[in-house]
Amino acid sequence: MALDTETLNLLLDAVRRFVHERLIPAEDALAASGEIPPDIVNEMRELGLFGLSIAPEYGGLGLNMEEEVRVVFELGQTSPAFRSLAGTNIGIGSQAIVLAGTDEQRQRYLPRLASGELIGSFALTEPDAGSDAMSLRVSAERDGDHYVLNGTKRFITNAPIAGLFSVMARTAPERKAGSISCFLVEAGTPGLSIGKPDKKMGQAGALTSDVVFDNCRVPASALLGGEEGNGFRTAMRVLDKGRLHISALCVGIADRLLRDAVKYATERKQFGQPISEFQLIQAMIADSQAELYAARCMVLDAARMRDRGENTTLQAACCKLFATEMVGRVADRAVQIHGGAGYMSEYAVERFYRDVRLFRIFEGTSQIQQLVIARETIKANS
Ligand SMILES: Cc1cc2nc3c(=O)[nH]c(=O)nc-3n(C[C@H](O)[C@H](O)[C@H](O)COP(=O)(O)OP(=O)(O)OC[C@H]3O[C@@H](n4cnc5c(N)ncnc54)[C@H](O)[C@@H]3O)c2cc1C
Repeated sequence: MALDTETLNLLLDAVRRFVHERLIPAEDALAASGEIPPDIVNEMRELGLFGLSIAPEYGGLGLNMEEEVRVVFELGQTSPAFRSLAGTNIGIGSQAIVLAGTDEQRQRYLPRLASGELIGSFALTEPDAGSDAMSLRVSAERDGDHYVLNGTKRFITNAPIAGLFSVMARTAPERKAGSISCFLVEAGTPGLSIGKPDKKMGQAGALTSDVVFDNCRVPASALLGGEEGNGFRTAMRVLDKGRLHISALCVGIADRLLRDAVKYATERKQFGQPISEFQLIQAMIADSQAELYAARCMVLDAARMRDRGENTTLQAACCKLFATEMVGRVADRAVQIHGGAGYMSEYAVERFYRDVRLFRIFEGTSQIQQLVIARETIKANS
C-alpha cells in the first residue's frame, strides 16, 4: 500500500530535518564513543524509523519499497551506524517473520520490532560459512517439544543489543536448501551467549559480534512458519530486499560525499583560484555525479518492480554490485578532492571512506552479486 504524496512528503521532510538537525551534528560524538545516545534512539522511535515498512496492523508505517528507499536516501546523508540500528529492524531483523512467520509469530514480535522496543538480528554467517551459506553448521536437533541449537554465528549485526535473533540452522545433514530451517530465538534464552563486540575498520556505533549456541533449547513454536526446511530460501528472500535497502543507503551516502567534496573544492584555493575551477577536479565531480545518478535510477526502478510484485533477484544484485562499488569510488574521489585534509579524521570524508568499505562485503560480497547476476542472466537467455 502506497502513502499519498502529501503524507510521504511530510515523512521525508521530517526525516530530512531529523538527519540534518540531530544526526549530522552527533556524528563526531558517535565516532568517538561508539554509542548512539539514548535520546537520539528515542527520537528515531518516535519518527517511526524502526517500523518504516512493517505493516500498519503491527504498528509500522507500511511503506512500500519505493517509499522505503526514498527514506533511506535521506538517512544515507549521515553516519551509517544510525541507519544500521533502525534499518536492521525493518530489514534483515524482521523480514523473515514478515515473509514466512506464522500469525502468532507476527503478532508476538512485529509490533515490538516496529516500535523499536525489540532490536532484531539476522544470524546466517558462521566462522566457516560466509559466502557459502549453505554449508552452515549450526545445528538444531528436535527433542520432544523443543529444538536444541549448537554452534557459532559470526559478525552478527546488533547482536550485543538484540532482543530477537532469526537464526538459520541445519535440521538435516544433506547439502541442500531444504536442510536449513530458521528459528526465532529470544535474547536471554539459556545456552545463548553473545561474544564481545568486534573491533571494526569503520561504522563505529554499529555493533557486531559472535552469537554462540551451547545446547540452547527453544520451544518448537520458535521454528519460523512452523515448518522445517524453509530457512535457506527465506534467508535468500530476506537478502533480496536487504540488497535494495543497502543500495539506497549507498546512494544517500554518495550524495553526502559529493556535496562535502564540492563544498571543499569551492572553498579551497590553490594557484590563486578555487580548486573547483580545475578541470581535473571537475572530472572527479562529474564522474561521481554521473555514477550517483545511475545508481539512484537503478534503485528506484528495482524498488518499483518489487512493488509491482515482480521478481527482483537479478535487479537487487545489480543494484547491490553497482551502488556499493559506486559509493567506494565516490568516497575515494571525495578524499582525493580534500587532499591531505581528506586523510585527517576531523573531516567526515575520512570516516565515510572507511564506513563504506563494508557495503561491498556484507549481505553478499561483490563477487557473490556477480555470480547471482550471471546465473540469472544465463537462465533468462537460454
Ligand atoms: C560489519 C559486518 C556486519 C555483518 N552483519 C551480518 C549479519 O547481521 N548477519 C549475518 O549473517 N552476517 C553478517 N555479516 C557477514 C557477512 O555477510 C559476510 O562477511 C559475507 O557474506 C562474506 O563472508 P565471509 O566473511 O566468510 O567471506 P568469504 O566467504 O570467506 O569470502 C572471502 C573472499 O572470497 C570471495 N569468494 C567467496 N566465494 C566465492 C566464489 N564462489 N567465487 C568468487 N569469489 C568468492 C568473496 O567474495 C571474498 O572476496 C557481517 C559482516 C560484517 C563485516
